[in-house]
Amino acid sequence: MARYADLTTAELEEELAQVRERYSEMQARGLALNMARGKPSAAQLELSLPMLDVLDSSANLSAEDGTDCRNYGVLDGIPEAKRLMATLLDDAPDNVIVLGNASLTAMYDAMARYMMFGALGSEPWGKLDAVKWLCPVPGYDRHFTICEALGIQMIPVPMDENGPVMDEVERLAAEDAAIKGIWCVPKYSNPSGVTYSDETVHRLAAMDCAAPDFRIFWDNAYAAHHFSDDPAEQDTVLDIAAACAEAGNPDRYLKFGSTSKITFPGAGVAAVAASPANVAEVKRHMNAQAIGHDKLNQLRHARFLKEGAGLAEHMAAHGALMKPKFDLVVEKLESELGEAAIATWTSPRGGYFVSFEGPEGTASRIVGLAREAGVTMTGAGATWPYGDDPADSNIRIAPSLPPLDELDAAMDVFCCCVKLAALEKLLE
Ligand code: PLP
Repeated sequence: MARYADLTTAELEEELAQVRERYSEMQARGLALNMARGKPSAAQLELSLPMLDVLDSSANLSAEDGTDCRNYGVLDGIPEAKRLMATLLDDAPDNVIVLGNASLTAMYDAMARYMMFGALGSEPWGKLDAVKWLCPVPGYDRHFTICEALGIQMIPVPMDENGPVMDEVERLAAEDAAIKGIWCVPKYSNPSGVTYSDETVHRLAAMDCAAPDFRIFWDNAYAAHHFSDDPAEQDTVLDIAAACAEAGNPDRYLKFGSTSKITFPGAGVAAVAASPANVAEVKRHMNAQAIGHDKLNQLRHARFLKEGAGLAEHMAAHGALMKPKFDLVVEKLESELGEAAIATWTSPRGGYFVSFEGPEGTASRIVGLAREAGVTMTGAGATWPYGDDPADSNIRIAPSLPPLDELDAAMDVFCCCVKLAALEKLLE
């Protein structure tokens, strides 16, 4: 097979007939496979089952400072859980507030608080004529949903291999005071797998912002989610807190994270880390919202993950389950689509996703074709604000959930759909 772009119309038509036949065969198999969301597989969830035995009825249920974890109290987390989450968020335990079961709730709450109360004394954002937010694309759909739900206008900014394109970020942030912040997934980004370069982190921390209360929502959801346990094969990212402090903007960031994809999604522990001023502000508002979060879950997590000292070993076991799946996805894409030269994709060293770029105007068609053949993908457009990918070309591949044999079958279907949609487009 040659590059599709080099084929004559007759050759393209012949190829289309073959691909259509293959697609019909696949459709007839009656598959029901899912690559839509970044959920851990059953085998990954099993890695954390022993955590459920950590707090049996004979266990000491007091935190190290004597707090009875069965009862009310402690707004910002027990000390051992603070140390665990500080390890994950690359910060000091004093700067950490341990929260409930999900970081997304923490991000929504932080944004809602700024809308209602402003940031460190600024005008409540909700009272302003417009609030705008920078959204690196492709990005995480649920970040975009938070902005949409709160009436925050989203401005897409392109990503490259170093993170958000900083010339563009700096230009926008400097010229428009309605731009109040930016979403960042700094390591193994969702969906591109990109890790921000040191220069990107420094520029984010130091850039001139027209809004004095500009905030970086630093969602380090994949901080420890490497595929290899060899440090040489792992991405690292500079600490945004140190970079902001150094640049004279110590309050510019809020770091978010959780153990969702370390232990149990929906039943993990989330946290925020921030400057002392931001921590005090969050606590003041939270004091009206909660008496405290689930300390038994904090205790269980802190003991199971050895307050962070057990994190690397635990994540290596996750990585060992993830790596073959990502290898398979990349190998399939290469062997099925490489020669036709109709698409590009990322090959991350961690995280949960591969970002796929098909020919312009084909992503919706590819996802639709896959669905009709029994393979559910993340919806086309989901990686863009308002679900609107102007080029209709980006698709997020989430290989974690299906077992390898199912993933293999699903990728065959996906690649066939890509070829079919590309050929239809070329012959239009
Ligand atoms: N942030 C990013 C970038 C994610 O990809 C996800 C889940 O896919 C989340 C946050 C959700 O985290 P949590 O379960 O802590 O709400």
